[in-house]
Amino acid sequence: MSPKRRKTRQISVGWVKIGGDAPIVVQSMTSTKTHQVEETLQQIERLHSAGCELIRVAVPHEEDLEALPDIVKNSPIPVIADIHFAPSYAFRSMEKGVHGIRINPGNIGKEEIVREIVQEAKKKGVAIRIGVNSGSLEKDLLEKYGYPCAEALFESAMRWSEKLEKWGFDNFKVSIKGSDVLENIKSNLLFAERTNIPLHIGITEAGMGQSGIVKSSVGIGILLYLGIGDTVRVSLTDDPEVEVKVAYDILRSLGIRRQGVEIVACPTCGRIEVDLPKVVMQVKEKLKDIKEPLKIAIMGCVVNAIGEAREADLGLACGRGFAWLFKRGKPIRKVSEGEMAQALLEEVLKYKSEL
Ligand code: SF4
Repeated sequence: MSPKRRKTRQISVGWVKIGGDAPIVVQSMTSTKTHQVEETLQQIERLHSAGCELIRVAVPHEEDLEALPDIVKNSPIPVIADIHFAPSYAFRSMEKGVHGIRINPGNIGKEEIVREIVQEAKKKGVAIRIGVNSGSLEKDLLEKYGYPCAEALFESAMRWSEKLEKWGFDNFKVSIKGSDVLENIKSNLLFAERTNIPLHIGITEAGMGQSGIVKSSVGIGILLYLGIGDTVRVSLTDDPEVEVKVAYDILRSLGIRRQGVEIVACPTCGRIEVDLPKVVMQVKEKLKDIKEPLKIAIMGCVVNAIGEAREADLGLACGRGFAWLFKRGKPIRKVSEGEMAQALLEEVLKYKSEL
């Protein structure tokens, strides 16, 4: 049973809905220089193919601003301009047609400027993400709390949300991100208990490789389990395609979004008589473009194979250098070790046509 989601109001970033009854949206951020339009669009295309539904681009320089119309025109998904320190870039990005802007009021400066940005967004139908990050918290809150604790992040998020609502703007979502998992969870919980504003969740600066993935999975996973989160970004020091894949793995593991292939594979032990890690890698590679929700079990021997295969759409139960290919719990044919990945792909394609 997937977690019961907190009721939030729905907003729109271009044609993508966030909150309410919309699915939890997966987003990412390009790592290219935004002004290198071709590279940026190629990366957006790859991310879109991996399942990314919203894309944010950094706009640190004049040349990045100039590139926005081309990017917006050719991107298959809505584009959000990431603005820091330079309020003029927020106005100019909106002029260039972006679907959303992300600002951290903590580094924009005076309240009056934030209000003018909000009024312009309202006029142009642009969505806003109010970002509250431990690294860009307002001075008065840092002085009050001494460090960017959960209460300080929460207070900043409430402060700006109330202002935007008072200014008659509600097409916004909030992100409260700290790199400390527990503070992050706590601040999001505090905010979720008091408002129906959609939340963008993630663990900022989670880092690289295994530790970044684990940190993100724990932080995001706990929030999702508590029903919190309307859009997700996994932030890794890695190719953004990895971020998108990890985001789907987290959502899939909680039964929230089932897009793509879920592979259940045994951890292997002394009974194994095939190179199972190699088979799993080959199967993963062969099935990477399958978008339909499918569960595949790859088991090293018959010990757990029958039970797992029964739960899966398709599966392999391996013996010495061969495997039984299972479909909905029933063995359908025997394949050699070298044929396993290809045979599974053929069955997946047949299975898809029967769905
Ligand atoms: Fe070992 Fe077989 Fe279990 Fe895999 S399925 S861990 S090979 S007993």
